[in-house]
Amino acid sequence: MKTSSTLPPTPAGKHAIVYGGSMAGLLATGVLSRHFERVTLVERDRFEDGPQPRKGVPQSSQVHILLARGRNVLSEVFPGIEQELKAAGGEIMDMTESMAYYVSGLWRPQIRGGVSMSAHSRPLLEWVVRQRMRALPNVRVLDGREAAGLKTDADPTRITGVKLQAPGGGQEEVLEGDLVVDASGRGSRTPQWLEALGYPRVEETCIHVDVVYACRLYQRPPGFEPGWDSLTLSPQLPEVRRLGTIQRIENNLWQVMLGGWLGDGPSADEASFLEFARGLSQPHLYEALRNAQPVGPIHRYRFSHNQRRHYERMPRFPEGLVVIGDAFCSFNPVYGQGMTTGALQAETLGECLRRGLAGVSQRYRQCVGKLLEVPWMLATSGDLRLPEVEGKRPPVLGLLSWYGDRVQRLTCYDEEALRVFMRVMHMLESPAAMFSPRMVFKVLTSEPDTVALSRGPKPLAAVPRAQVA
Ligand SMILES: Cc1cc2nc3c(=O)[nH]c(=O)nc-3n(C[C@H](O)[C@H](O)[C@H](O)COP(=O)(O)OP(=O)(O)OC[C@H]3O[C@@H](n4cnc5c(N)ncnc54)[C@H](O)[C@@H]3O)c2cc1C
Repeated sequence: MKTSSTLPPTPAGKHAIVYGGSMAGLLATGVLSRHFERVTLVERDRFEDGPQPRKGVPQSSQVHILLARGRNVLSEVFPGIEQELKAAGGEIMDMTESMAYYVSGLWRPQIRGGVSMSAHSRPLLEWVVRQRMRALPNVRVLDGREAAGLKTDADPTRITGVKLQAPGGGQEEVLEGDLVVDASGRGSRTPQWLEALGYPRVEETCIHVDVVYACRLYQRPPGFEPGWDSLTLSPQLPEVRRLGTIQRIENNLWQVMLGGWLGDGPSADEASFLEFARGLSQPHLYEALRNAQPVGPIHRYRFSHNQRRHYERMPRFPEGLVVIGDAFCSFNPVYGQGMTTGALQAETLGECLRRGLAGVSQRYRQCVGKLLEVPWMLATSGDLRLPEVEGKRPPVLGLLSWYGDRVQRLTCYDEEALRVFMRVMHMLESPAAMFSPRMVFKVLTSEPDTVALSRGPKPLAAVPRAQVA
């Protein structure tokens, strides 16, 4: 196993502390190991030695897609990690070629689009990353401990460490460090802790969506060759609010997710799950499930709201503290941006540290404030199409929605448009690419041919049962 810690001749500091050992915390630890003599990662859960879902990441039983940009950052921080993911059972696939995708009343062509995805469960991804992080020679892991407060000297303009204790209480101890990174997720208590130190309360924007996810694992039926590795029946907001996906993961399993907005999702019983699948816009997902063997229970998750904390707007913020991942901003998971945005924040932290430790907290929060603009806009402009969702609507939302729908439709019969769209969705390119003169011309003038309309996988009901079993 390779390690990636190559300290510069003059490290930014002696000791950095990260609390929260999930995706953002692991990536931040990897980055900080290149800038500090020592890094300590504090995690409330006890880490299992294997790819297990865990209490501190209750969403880990749900489908998780790592966008291509996030994979790139992951590979920069932990070189060679894709091989390790593959060795652990994950697979790398071309996103458009491997996926049957139904949107805007059309199936997208399954062409090689050049944007690849890694297919595996979230616990497997986290476990492989954790092993790489553990192999870093200057990293120490303190699991089964939680951060219970921030430590300052008499002067609260600098955070000098964290107060630690066993989850649920017990003897408190203090860990001193030059930089403290909060990677404790959506429930981060930094807003309250800063307020207690005399800072103003950070402004928060919340957009309530009440998205329901229900996921179950299935054994992929032997001999089942439908021509796709994953299948997605996409929503079409505001009219179609339900979605379903089958994602191939390790051990020849399918991870099946069904869900919808505003509380509309199946409950955690088999009959409701299958009935919901049957009611989706196309029969393929239901037909596939009918022939597959479930493995384990249905896991249901309710995501109440997009949550953005505007640390970049705070008039005062202490040095020595950085907030990363969902603790800074957490998005409706339907858009698959959370882990990638966390990875980009870790990358940004590394860039800010290249100019030294002095002023890093201020530089970082400003850069992340800007970085979040695009993913936040992409996620919330979808959600705000639902009239029931409260929030400030930009004046151009109607025009953007109309254009976005046309682009979606175009991707079903124009391969160039599909490639551009995929690069934007995977954060490899700016959304400006969808507004190039060539794209605008296509969006305004092209119409699908009728052959394209009939393209797409056959429903399995049309396939003789002997071929399916
Ligand atoms: C249903 C669902 C599906 C999703 N699907 C996708 C997807 O397809 N693609 C994608 O990119 N993202 C997806 N996401 C988002 C993704 O799960 C998060 O963005 C990501 O996990 C955020 O990582 P994080 O490290 O910031 O926080 P978290 O994963 O929430 O982890 C926080 C960690 O901090 C620990 N912790 C908490 N408090 C303390 C403390 N005081 N001291 C020490 N440790 C502490 C916790 O135990 C945990 O390990 C999905 C989310 C949901 C809810």
